[in-house]
Amino acid sequence: MQFFLADPQGWKAPVIRPDAEALRASSVEIFVHAPYVLNLASTNNRIRIPSRKLLGQHAAAAATVGASGLIVHGGHVNKGEDIAVGIDNWRKALQKAQDDGGLPTRVLIENTAGGDNACARRFDELARLWDAVGEFGVGFCLDTCHAHAGGEKLLDIVDRVKSITGRIDLVHANGSRDGFDSGRDRHDNLTVKNVEPGMIDPELVAAVVRAAGAPAVVETPGGAEGQSADIAYLRAHQ
Ligand SMILES: [Zn+2]
Repeated sequence: MQFFLADPQGWKAPVIRPDAEALRASSVEIFVHAPYVLNLASTNNRIRIPSRKLLGQHAAAAATVGASGLIVHGGHVNKGEDIAVGIDNWRKALQKAQDDGGLPTRVLIENTAGGDNACARRFDELARLWDAVGEFGVGFCLDTCHAHAGGEKLLDIVDRVKSITGRIDLVHANGSRDGFDSGRDRHDNLTVKNVEPGMIDPELVAAVVRAAGAPAVVETPGGAEGQSADIAYLRAHQ
């Protein structure tokens, strides 16, 4: 399972859950997702510095529930700025965390869907990012919606990711409401009837989960009902 430990859209510090001990003792593998506002690549001090602080706080809070990983989006620089600067900011953030004693939860960098200045949307940028941060023991979270909308084909994607990162730690098994390379991040269910041309074939998502050999979670709409159907679909296709 995966959950947030604070408002995903806010900068507030995470709150330690009252059931942290029970979660830590449970056999269910847990992943914590960092807030979306966190952007370690940012060239803006007022975003980058609080992002580093939030990273440390969430990595510590994630450890209290025994999380296997803390998912952090690849981040981006602003229009007209050089992605190389963003990638170097990533390296600096992880170097600082290491110098300060290390993070107690492994950071899993997630690919993102949009923008021309993202560090982990297109895999040629991801490869440069990995060259810079791979030495810090980070892992990778592959989101199928983000890959499709971000312009990376799902066919053979596991091999292409692993040739860059050497690993996939978690799959976000999501459909997409938008077309290939649309740059839009709108998740959809895997159980959509009559998938339109250009949208994700749910069979491909199931194939990615199988090939990845990693845990998978859905981040799909429809509440417990919609997500249960998606999970059932994935289980039936393993
Ligand atoms: Zn995701």
